[in-house]
Amino acid sequence: MIKINENYLKLQASYLFSDIAKRVADFQAANPQMEVIKLGIGDVTRCLPKACIDAFHKAVDEMADDRTFRGYGPEQGYPFLREKIAANDFQDRGADISADEIFISDGAKCDSGNIQEIFSSNIRIALPDPVYPVYLDTNVMAGRTGGFKDGRYEGVYYLDSTRDNGFIPQLPKEPVDLIYLCFPNNPTGAAISKDKLQQWVDYARENKALILYDAAYEAFIRDDSLPRSIYEINGAKEVAIEIRSFSKSAGFTGIRCGYVVIPKTCIAYDDKGSKHGLHSLWNRRHTTKFNGVSYPVQRAAEAVYSQEGKQQCKERIDHYLRNARLIRNEMTALGYECTGGDNSPYIWVDGKTDSWSFFDEMLEKAGVVCTPGAGFGKCGQGYIRISAFNSFENVKKAMSRIREALG
Ligand code: PLP
Repeated sequence: MIKINENYLKLQASYLFSDIAKRVADFQAANPQMEVIKLGIGDVTRCLPKACIDAFHKAVDEMADDRTFRGYGPEQGYPFLREKIAANDFQDRGADISADEIFISDGAKCDSGNIQEIFSSNIRIALPDPVYPVYLDTNVMAGRTGGFKDGRYEGVYYLDSTRDNGFIPQLPKEPVDLIYLCFPNNPTGAAISKDKLQQWVDYARENKALILYDAAYEAFIRDDSLPRSIYEINGAKEVAIEIRSFSKSAGFTGIRCGYVVIPKTCIAYDDKGSKHGLHSLWNRRHTTKFNGVSYPVQRAAEAVYSQEGKQQCKERIDHYLRNARLIRNEMTALGYECTGGDNSPYIWVDGKTDSWSFFDEMLEKAGVVCTPGAGFGKCGQGYIRISAFNSFENVKKAMSRIREALG
């Protein structure tokens, strides 16, 4: 008899974005004349940088000629891209990461979901609340949690991120093995300081734990004192894996490219307590289950690191950060406490009321769509996330409507 993985039955249906879509559709049907402005979803709105498009086109043309055609590439990614990443994203910032410690992938969602496969099912995970939901759900699927009770899974150590701790969670008070951290954070927009991140690295070293550091939004960091990579922190190379994405930094949400960094010094243990390198374990997994990102996409990603590419990416991020500044200033002026928006495309707004009520008020009174914070975890209740991914004109219009409706 064929049987299912019953862990899937523990998963909570994610109604968040379908609920939002339904409420928006109902509102639109009742108010056909109203132009709804969407500041909900975390997808970029600006097109790919020209440098990337040119490289993409050129690589597609290479595929049209027998002499330059490429079939299967290295599963880990082409050296031309891995070398650029190592030099620009790490070595230039004083982080000693080499090209062969980088694994190119089709995005951070897959990586953050897949990476847990190389760990025992018998470990305790710790994850921030609120946070990007993929970390939790993939561990539920893998059987690392108990059932869902009172809004949380049994067996998981939740790292509460609240106004009281500045949305940077405290170190765990009970033993944990695999720690997910995401900075700048989705959804709170909070960014972590070097000192605070050092405390997490020290904790992992002292407790033989491992940190999975999701830096999908590092390109939004403008405060130079903040770490963009966990490998800027002393001792991190033995206890941290970093996940990155070209989605938000270069607009690759539709063409898909990201990468994982696993330093060769990064270790975990077997049941007898013997050490094992995670680099070789992931290499085995990746080469068995993945056949590489397409050549034109990797050439487009490589172009991110050209002089024009860097300039064009920066211009896009500046655009979103300008939107974010406006949103944060306007919401603050209306008396709402906000975090994020300075080193992140998300503004986390304390609505001082139920998340969904605040969402409905924004939609019905201003025709603006946001995301209810409760969809990201129990600690998100009472908050909404406003995203800066839209045109400046739309953001200006949205904010003036909100000012009129809520002011
Ligand atoms: N990690 C975080 C924190 C995210 O918010 C997202 C997407 O919104 C991702 C990863 C997924 O990125 P990708 O498009 O590379 O799969």
